[in-house]
Amino acid sequence: VSKEQGRGTAVLYEKNLEEGYINKVRLESDIRFGLENDEFFLVYQPKVNLFTNKVHGYEALIRWNRKGKNIIPPNDYIPFAEETGLIIPLGRYVLHEACRQAAEWLQKGIAFDTVSVNISPAELEQNDFVNNVKDILLETGLPPQYLELEITENVLMKNLNKLLSILTELKNYGIRIAMDDFGAGFSNFRYLSELPIHTLKIDSMFMNRIFERRNEVIVSSIIRIGLSLGLEVVAEGVETEEVIQFLKRHKCKIVQGFYYSKPLNARDVPDFNLMVK
Ligand code: C2E
Ligand code: MG
Ligand code: MG
Ligand code: MG
Repeated sequence: VSKEQGRGTAVLYEKNLEEGYINKVRLESDIRFGLENDEFFLVYQPKVNLFTNKVHGYEALIRWNRKGKNIIPPNDYIPFAEETGLIIPLGRYVLHEACRQAAEWLQKGIAFDTVSVNISPAELEQNDFVNNVKDILLETGLPPQYLELEITENVLMKNLNKLLSILTELKNYGIRIAMDDFGAGFSNFRYLSELPIHTLKIDSMFMNRIFERRNEVIVSSIIRIGLSLGLEVVAEGVETEEVIQFLKRHKCKIVQGFYYSKPLNARDVPDFNLMVK
């Protein structure tokens, strides 16, 4: 009996491997298909200044209407796209579309300070990344100071000198850099002092548990360090009035989260912008 069971398990194991493989092959071809057939689009989540109640900016977030059936969340395929290199064409689409849209809004008199775009480590490592970004800005007509690139700590595990030169080049061109998801990973204070970073985004993990354990102390300390370093500090994932009051007390100016708004379709941005003005 045990021999039979053993064989059964092995067959099942192989079947799972095979299904995993087939799923990946399918996912890869579906992403390519999606790129060619406009299944990807961007939504924009407002960042609001707590003290003036005005829009500070918008973070562009990718959405995928796979085969026109349902929206797949980015966490379900971005890591795979990073593994396979598909993040390069995806990322180029995101950057171009966000800049094009932002330039259009500016032209229509919709006021904001920055549009933020998430950049994967593999994109930054492309030799022509900086030139691609410059080309996209020239092509779309978006002035560089309106663009903010969000990078995560993952990018920091690689070659620090190379990263420093890439970020410096971007900064010298007028582009802002944000450190995303700060506090969630291997947050290293050395990077905060050495890299030309403009913005510090505190990870949302802390916000929905701000009054638990020692999170109040941790968040207020991160805010203080960020402000002391002259950084713009953004709290992500803010959902409640209590957290808003906490952030106000600690002088954290910029807030992003469901409390103000979920990510919006591009066509809903002008109305939101008017509402909070
Ligand atoms: P992120 O850059 O940290 O983006 C914030 C995520 O938190 C978004 O999820 C947003 O919808 C969600 N969020 C915002 N406010 C709240 C809130 O109050 N409560 C809760 N529970 N969630 C909130 P989303 O859009 O699913 O994106 C997840 C992650 O996928 C992003 O995290 C980012 O790392 C990645 N991602 C999204 N778009 C892109 C893209 O265009 N390129 C790359 N490379 N990565 C992307
Ligand atoms: Mg982000
Ligand atoms: Mg984040
Ligand atoms: Mg995140």
